[in-house]
Amino acid sequence: MSLIGFSSKINDPAFSKYIKNTNRWSVIFSIVIAAAAVIGFYIYGETSTEMENPQALYIGFGIGGMFLLIVLFTIIGRKKSTAWDGTVVDKKIEKKRRSRSSGDNHYWENYTLFTVFLQSDNGKKYKISVENDDTRYNYYQVGDRIRHHKGLNSYEKYDKSKDSIIFCNACASLNDIRDDFCFRCKCPLLK
Ligand SMILES: [Zn+2]
Repeated sequence: MSLIGFSSKINDPAFSKYIKNTNRWSVIFSIVIAAAAVIGFYIYGETSTEMENPQALYIGFGIGGMFLLIVLFTIIGRKKSTAWDGTVVDKKIEKKRRSRSSGDNHYWENYTLFTVFLQSDNGKKYKISVENDDTRYNYYQVGDRIRHHKGLNSYEKYDKSKDSIIFCNACASLNDIRDDFCFRCKCPLLK
C-alpha cells in the first residue's frame, strides 16, 4: 500500500461523528461546571459571613456564564474552521526556563520547547508547540506538505512513506503506521 498522498478516508462518517460527539460533550461538561459555579456560590452566600446573596449568586452566574461562552466560541471556531493545504516551513528547539513556586519555595524550571512552523498555501502561519517532547518535532520535516482538515485540530502529512508512527487526526493519539484505526477513538487513520 502506498503511504504517499492525502487520504480519502477523511470522508468517513466517523470523523463528523467524532466532531459532533466532542461538541456534545463540551456542552454537557460546560453546563455541569456552570451549574456547579452557580450552586456553589449560592451556598457560599447563604453560609459565609464574608459575602451574602444575591451578590454571591451573581458571581456564580458570571463565572458560569463565562465558562459557557468559552465553550460556545470553541464550538463556533471548530465549525468555522476550513480545510487547507500548506507546507512545513521551519522548526525550532528552544531551551527555556520559567519561575515556579510550591508553597514558599520559588525555583526555576528548565524546559525545552519544540516548535514546528507551518504556512498555508494562501500565506497564513500556524505552529505546533510541544514542551519536553520531540515526537511531533521529529515527525514533520521542513518542506513536508501537510493538510489541515475542517473541524479537526491536526495536520495530515502528504508523504508518510518513511514513517513508523501516525497521529490520529481526530483525537491526536499516537498510533502505529501499520494500524488502520485509532486505538483510542476508532476513527480511521488517514493513510
Ligand atoms: Zn483517535
